[in-house]
Amino acid sequence: MPTATEADRRRARVRAAAPIAHLYVHFPFCARKCPYCDFNSHAQREAEIDAYVEALGVELDRWRDCLAPETVFVGGGTPTHAAPHQLARYLTHVRAACPAPPAEFTVEANPGSLTPAKVEVLAGAGVTRVSVGVQSFDDALLRRLGRIHDAQEAEAAFALLRAGGFEHLSLDLILALPGQTLAAQERDVRQAVALAPEHVSAYVLTYEEGTAFTRAMRAGRLPAPDDDRELEYLHVVRAGLEGAGYRRYEISNYARAGAECRHNLAYWRDADWLGVGAGAHSHVGAWRWKNEDGPSRYIAGQLQGAGAIAFEEASDPKTRVLEKLMMGLRLAEGVDLGAVGAATGVDVLRRRPERLALYEREGLLVREGPRVRLTPRGFDVVNAVVRGLTA
Ligand code: SF4
Repeated sequence: MPTATEADRRRARVRAAAPIAHLYVHFPFCARKCPYCDFNSHAQREAEIDAYVEALGVELDRWRDCLAPETVFVGGGTPTHAAPHQLARYLTHVRAACPAPPAEFTVEANPGSLTPAKVEVLAGAGVTRVSVGVQSFDDALLRRLGRIHDAQEAEAAFALLRAGGFEHLSLDLILALPGQTLAAQERDVRQAVALAPEHVSAYVLTYEEGTAFTRAMRAGRLPAPDDDRELEYLHVVRAGLEGAGYRRYEISNYARAGAECRHNLAYWRDADWLGVGAGAHSHVGAWRWKNEDGPSRYIAGQLQGAGAIAFEEASDPKTRVLEKLMMGLRLAEGVDLGAVGAATGVDVLRRRPERLALYEREGLLVREGPRVRLTPRGFDVVNAVVRGLTA
């Protein structure tokens, strides 16, 4: 548990950086735990939701004088797993922490938990954007993923949100699933495009430590990840989405012009943000901290006034450079190495000129003055490029 002094120092650092323009709110409850998921999400804990909503209100209130959010992102877990009155209450807490309506206010939604009443609550709370976890349109694959919805419910969720007046919808797909064929992947993209989302997130399935999928993969019941196969699926998705007029503005994210996710852009551009809720991360300057994952500990910490910080640390300059490149090189706009040097004192342009020249010759990156950005081929090997520039 942090001492009052640690909490005071944290507050002073946030005050010095205030107003903070980006707010993340975590809702850690789900109807069921998907076997591939390592997010901070807990199933069958509905009895805790009311107290959690109150704890969120307490934490938000504590940061209120430091916040002027241009973007708010409510993620999970499943934010729409809450009952309509609970959803209304915690969105009211979020809005109370915003001196003006946020320009972008996103809530994640699971098609299996969206109802007309919840759509009405979202619209009434000033939510501007809903990110729908569709993942696939193949019902057999959805069952394998443990999802609580089928393809038809995903389509119905889109219709419901459009009827509710939402003009900015994002659709999540998971790629290269076990048992998925390339043709099935192409079908998923076509069906996604047919729903006309303004934004599509398309991430390859990853086997995270501690998940049921990873245990099954290690026991030989699921195929091991295969880099070449994953690239093949990524290329098919990119071709399908770019062919339909979406711009790949980040390795795994595509948008119609002007529909990029401003909140996530702030992460990739290494801006400051505050995260509230169980397990939420915050990032202010070189400092980052994380709340307790467990909803019960989070609730107790907030309601008793002690806070609920799991860890806090300041990154050293070398780590800051790594973070800035890991995030910034994921963007089509790339990263300004001059600005990275000014912020961290580590001048990559002077330290790694031979690497930059090599990657440029190999067609992996393009240089425009101090700014470097990866080409589509560079995106395929982003981790190797970042390692090369920061080693
Ligand atoms: S619905 Fe989302 S957050 Fe919840 S268990 Fe499934 S993948 Fe994880």
